[in-house]
Amino acid sequence: MSVTTIDIPSTARLRLNSEALLANWRTLDDMSGSASAGAAIKANGYGLGSAEVVQRLQSAGCRDFYVASWQEAKDIEAHVEADSSISVLNGARAEDMPFAVTSAAKPVLNSMEQVLRWQETSRPCDIMINSGMNRLGIEVTDLEQFDWGSHDIDIVMSHLASADEDGPQNAEQLAEFVGALQYVSGKRNSLSNSAGIALGQAYHFDCTRPGLSLYGGKQRPEYSGLIQQVVFPEAQILQVRQLKAGDKVGYNAKYTAERDHPIAILAMGYADGYLRGFSNRGVFLSGQTKLPVIGRISMDLIAIDISDAPDLAESDWVSAEYDLPIASDQSGLSQYELITGLGHRYSHYWV
Ligand SMILES: *Cc1c(COP(=O)(O)O)cnc(C)c1O
Repeated sequence: MSVTTIDIPSTARLRLNSEALLANWRTLDDMSGSASAGAAIKANGYGLGSAEVVQRLQSAGCRDFYVASWQEAKDIEAHVEADSSISVLNGARAEDMPFAVTSAAKPVLNSMEQVLRWQETSRPCDIMINSGMNRLGIEVTDLEQFDWGSHDIDIVMSHLASADEDGPQNAEQLAEFVGALQYVSGKRNSLSNSAGIALGQAYHFDCTRPGLSLYGGKQRPEYSGLIQQVVFPEAQILQVRQLKAGDKVGYNAKYTAERDHPIAILAMGYADGYLRGFSNRGVFLSGQTKLPVIGRISMDLIAIDISDAPDLAESDWVSAEYDLPIASDQSGLSQYELITGLGHRYSHYWV
């Protein structure tokens, strides 16, 4: 088959608001007090594009970036300034070593196996301590017994499991982390993710690691009114049709019209991360006008009721209501799933 180079305009796109991203980082940096806020940019910048996020946040003064894997580190290395740091949260496997020892990024060492493996390199590293989440991290008893003298440790960190809640686990983890710090010292200490920053000064240490809230996530009441929406999914109308009372819409006829009204069919679906939980519950917007999703979300298509915007026509664009707490209530998905699940078919445009 011959392939031309003619551009094919996409039928769904993400509008990404630079100002909102920068304002969110500044808010989180201010709320971190004397600690400096970094940025978790794993999973391709939570789906926004890690290189684009890094470039913007660096211009605002952000200097510490957290990715999950060495591949993710490689994807941004060219965009990171010499005075910035990249931490690879999933650590260094044996398979990672050939690349890792050439990389400007440093591993977050999560186990004693990783600690011993890295020792031979005498390169910088971070350390993750298990303070009670029991995900990744070195046990405090192992820390205590080891001689850290030959490691060049930048950040000593731990991770909060329930910072979005006010239960006892936050204080328990804080105490465990503080206790562990007597056995290992780096240049800086760090405990808080986005939600942890709102827990107050005791949780800030030297640097904080917000992710979700940079991108508009509000998991704590402290953030409502302060954190702004960054990601706006938009879909194009492929067809407009007029329903008669009694007409059914979509797979398994989960919507039946009670009156005659117009609907629009959008070029977006669950394959784009707009999952079936939005069926008969999601909302799209044309300007300020709310247009409810009707029937089941299909793989590539969504039906909306356009009774309140009857002038909408084929090729017009509408945007999904995607304020993360609201969309989470509508769909039953977490704010993290909503933002990282948006998929690969969207074109991205930053405004
Ligand atoms: C993902 C992650 C973060 C950022 O968490 P958010 O809840 O998105 O702010 C911080 N630290 C570690 C270790 C992480 O894995």
